[in-house]
Amino acid sequence: SSNDFLINSNIVNTNKWRVFLFPFFARGHLIPMTDFANLLSTSHPDIEPTMVVTPGNTKFITSSLGKSNSSTQQPVVQIVTYPFPSIGLKPDVETIGIGKLAESSAIDGAFHMARPGQEQVIQHYKPDAVIADMKFPWIAAIAAELRIPCLFFTCSGSFSILLYRCLSRMRANVVGLHDHVTVLGLPGREIRMPVLELPPFVLAEENNYAQYVERMMKTLGDAFGVVVNTYRGLESEYCKELEKTLARRAYFVGPVSVSCATDQHSVLGRGGEGETGCLRWLDKKEERSVVLVSFGSQSYFRSMQLHELAMGLEESGQNFLWVVRGVDQSEQWMPEGWEERIGDRGLVVRGWAPQVAILAHAAIGAFVTHCGWNSILEGTAAGLPMLTWPLAHDQFINEKLLVDVVGCAARLWEGGERSTTDMKSELVPRTVIAQAVSRFMEPKGEYSSVHCKARELGAVARSVMAEGGNSVSDLSRLISDLIDAMQSNTCQ
Ligand code: UDP
Repeated sequence: SSNDFLINSNIVNTNKWRVFLFPFFARGHLIPMTDFANLLSTSHPDIEPTMVVTPGNTKFITSSLGKSNSSTQQPVVQIVTYPFPSIGLKPDVETIGIGKLAESSAIDGAFHMARPGQEQVIQHYKPDAVIADMKFPWIAAIAAELRIPCLFFTCSGSFSILLYRCLSRMRANVVGLHDHVTVLGLPGREIRMPVLELPPFVLAEENNYAQYVERMMKTLGDAFGVVVNTYRGLESEYCKELEKTLARRAYFVGPVSVSCATDQHSVLGRGGEGETGCLRWLDKKEERSVVLVSFGSQSYFRSMQLHELAMGLEESGQNFLWVVRGVDQSEQWMPEGWEERIGDRGLVVRGWAPQVAILAHAAIGAFVTHCGWNSILEGTAAGLPMLTWPLAHDQFINEKLLVDVVGCAARLWEGGERSTTDMKSELVPRTVIAQAVSRFMEPKGEYSSVHCKARELGAVARSVMAEGGNSVSDLSRLISDLIDAMQSNTCQ
């Protein structure tokens, strides 16, 4: 029958409000939306969240779904699946960053093909409300047809969303690859960035992606509301501006990872089962003596850069925990005799690490990050100073916010050419890495004000997620607005 595609669903017909969440096919999206679904379910007894994913993506969310208190240990969040678009990939390769680079590009290029499956799910189950990833703007139209409210969940911060909007409006004025651009239309201090560090759509004359960004902004503005995984204490001016000029209703509910961190089961299985041996290794290290080096779930380094990074970490003389993703990498990057020379001073985790649990460990003193938005929120929530090494997407924009506006991070390298396009980036030399890391780890050194700001921000991040905090009250406001709309059967 036409319903054959709905496998694995264990939806029971409850009297609760059924809210369906649609995350994009990448762990940087699946993870925060799962945290958010857990939060929704624990914040109101009458809301039943359901994650709607393709079969190959269920394994990245089931291990961190909250369990109910009852003896049955049933997950409090339901799962419904729809088929992954047939684009000729191997079964189970349905997530950006888990297969080869070419497979990730294919997924990224074909995600609009997810629409029919999503449409069937919504029409079949007729949920009371939907919360869609910003990557799926068409879900607004499907929801409008059924007259149910549609909210968008963003996996980036207010600053970068606003910047994208400004850039899509200013494209005509951007001329050369080696220019600097002053971003027009942002509140607060002047933001100026090299074109190379901006998303590539800014430059191109005729480009589908720019139109897509424009459409996304319009969809966000027309939707019932926008849910942003951020907190006002981090980027208050930009949250205000987003609320005022972009969204009909804006809810700042993050950092959502904080709620997950209190549940041992969820935190260790977040985004998949991670290597937990590294936590025991950290137990033996002194407080604030280890630097965590991790670049998210989809970044890709050339072997030469990995080699240089290995040498840099060795020369830094610091303790380090380095997460190297296994994808597409042979071990050619590893310098000869390196592991023996490093001994117990460093640990390489291959594959998936329980990042939030690691960041919360007392032995971690700093975080070298690619500035993916989730990592940044998680880093600030742990009160850790960050050394930034952005690679693509909105990461340079996030770095700009942290280093030049907030002051809780420093750039790892400013000397050479850096770019959102890998081919245009210069190799970051080992001596730069070694010096940056060792200077940054000095507790009373030149970065002490950065360390101090980071600690302050950690306290703020945790307080907004505690009872009476800003993010908690935004979540209550969201739930009550949503229940009002569902009760009165309006989608506006
Ligand atoms: N992450 C993790 N273990 C890893 C690598 C990443 O738990 O080994 C998590 C990390 O905590 C974050 C997410 O994966 O929640 C990555 O999202 P982010 O926005 O930082 O980067 P992206 O992967 O989207 O580039």
